[in-house]
Amino acid sequence: MGECPVCAAEIEIADDAIAGELVICADCGVELELLGTDPVALAEAPSAEEDWGQ
Ligand SMILES: [Zn+2]
Repeated sequence: MGECPVCAAEIEIADDAIAGELVICADCGVELELLGTDPVALAEAPSAEEDWGQ
């Protein structure tokens, strides 16, 4: 179980989840990236609208 860094809601992480997976917070709808599973670390995923520098 992780915690949404935006709204602090509990996020269920699958047992077989791997770092880099994207999860959506069911509470606030933000897209989160799973940074690690032991311990669970979540961060707001980069916006798709961001400039990737190309
Ligand atoms: Zn949230």
